[in-house]
Amino acid sequence: MKKSIAIIFAFIISQFQAQQNPYYQQAAKYKMDIDVNAEKFTYQGNQTLQYTNNSPDELNVVYFHLYWNAFKPNSMMDQRVASQGKNGDSRLQKDGISRLASIPKDQEGAQNIHWIKQNGKDLKFEVQETIMKVYLNESIKPNSTTSFTMEWDAVIPQQIRRSGRNNREGVDMTMTQWYPKISEYDYDGWATFDYIGREFHAPFSDFDVTIKIDKDYVIGAGGILENPKEVKGYDANANIKAEKNKKATWKWTAKNILDFAWSADRDYIVKSFDVPDGPKVYLVYQKNDKTKVWEEAQPYVTKYFQIMNSHFGKYAYPTYAFIQGGDGGMEYGMCTMILGESKSMEDLMGLMAHEGSHSWYQQMLATNESVRPWMDEGFTSYAEGYVMNQLFPPKDKLPNPFVERLEAYRNFVKKGIEEPAVWLGDHHDNGTSYTYASYIKGELFLVELGYIVGEENLSEILKQYFNTWSLKHPTDRDFLHIAQKVSGMDLKWFHHYWINTTKTIDYGIKDVKYDAKSTTITLINNGQVPMPIDFSILTKDKKIVTYQIPTNLTHTWKQKDEYGDFKTENYWPWTQKEYTLTIPYTQSQLQLLGIDFSQRLADVNMKDNFVEVK
Ligand SMILES: [Zn+2]
Repeated sequence: MKKSIAIIFAFIISQFQAQQNPYYQQAAKYKMDIDVNAEKFTYQGNQTLQYTNNSPDELNVVYFHLYWNAFKPNSMMDQRVASQGKNGDSRLQKDGISRLASIPKDQEGAQNIHWIKQNGKDLKFEVQETIMKVYLNESIKPNSTTSFTMEWDAVIPQQIRRSGRNNREGVDMTMTQWYPKISEYDYDGWATFDYIGREFHAPFSDFDVTIKIDKDYVIGAGGILENPKEVKGYDANANIKAEKNKKATWKWTAKNILDFAWSADRDYIVKSFDVPDGPKVYLVYQKNDKTKVWEEAQPYVTKYFQIMNSHFGKYAYPTYAFIQGGDGGMEYGMCTMILGESKSMEDLMGLMAHEGSHSWYQQMLATNESVRPWMDEGFTSYAEGYVMNQLFPPKDKLPNPFVERLEAYRNFVKKGIEEPAVWLGDHHDNGTSYTYASYIKGELFLVELGYIVGEENLSEILKQYFNTWSLKHPTDRDFLHIAQKVSGMDLKWFHHYWINTTKTIDYGIKDVKYDAKSTTITLINNGQVPMPIDFSILTKDKKIVTYQIPTNLTHTWKQKDEYGDFKTENYWPWTQKEYTLTIPYTQSQLQLLGIDFSQRLADVNMKDNFVEVK
């Protein structure tokens, strides 16, 4: 009797625990041998993949991404570009005509899978363009590891987007999303988005990659080069070991990254230096007139990593490489591919700061970019703006580092084509709406949050978010949980309005009455998004006094903010249209009245936000 009760209790407890949905993440270990035919732009590959299912679910199928299958006429990517015409991504089209439609047959991207086995036995698989569905002979039980082996060959596509051969600066091979990559499986299920142009997602993985390529090539990659003395470019005393076919063998490893990317060119040079307390940085590029600024980049890159490490959390990997390649800038594990040409150090660093910051928002804090692009592009843009403001302080001091972004957002909103940031990255109607939804709205999410909770709290939120979720897969819920915990405020309403809707903020000064001993101001909410209001005055003797008018939605008020001291007034119920404030200053003492002197508030109509006192 007693025993059966114990069993029942154990059952109830296990059911209870199962309902808690504890966090888990899948793990993958790749071993790949690649043999490149540089003349034909093809390679042969084989892969051994140890895949660990840490989920509570039994898996009967697995999915792989075959991204390069997108680069051919009439692919889904081509159809998408064609249907968006001039409104789509400018890099994929020329005058509104898809560049994919005219890829010559011998330059069509391909990943041809010869076979895949599980624990040595052949598996049935089905290729749906960029997704391969694999039916397993043996299901993968929770908390168990299985082994896949696979052989394939690939054609490096004409360079259309990100990866490919002969980019416009003459980099021979940009090898990104280049191997059959297992899809992520998490609480949302399999991340099986067809590749039509936007972003990526993957489980954290270890890599052991051997690449055979003609010995006069130099490879740049996100990883650790295990044999620098046997290949070109990394060691002055290298003794390049070439096999009979004149190929050298490159051995790369990387641990706990989302994807392994590399590139190869005969004209690359490699520079490296150590950031104090940070990664060893590699610059891999073609030395010529267009890349002159790269020569002077070291002090800026060093300072960049130091600011990131101290403000956003310490970079977790031993190395990072800025590699010339691709078509603009794209982030990968421990490296980025960027174009080499730069007009100025500020241009180059803007690109490096953006792509580098994806190591935080995409790589270490590995959100699903296809589902929540605003969390990686937006947070990355915020970090970029934060660091660039310190690396290149503006000549005329701005009220905050993000004023230009706010102005861009205001102008964009007027066009009436804004789409909610919550939309899936690939499903926006046009490229501009995607850009604003993910980059700008995501960046301003943090700017607005700083305004609501105070900058000190925001910086603590970013640190705790990093400390809790680094090398994991957080969602917006996880971020919000930490933001609420740190600030003590309810912030769900703000997240909802800002991310799920395109509603806008519009407060104004409706009326000012001057009396003998005081001034009474009536504020009005003409917008659809409630916000707390920092109302400030500038006196004739140049003193600034700020009154915090909280919104009751947060239920706790901002305690401090590095933008200045403030007095806290009664809260403004979010249902109430107007708010009246009386201040002990007379007309003759006042010079300027205004909503948010820091100008962080994303108010779309600034015309009624300030009153000059005559
Ligand atoms: Zn980005």
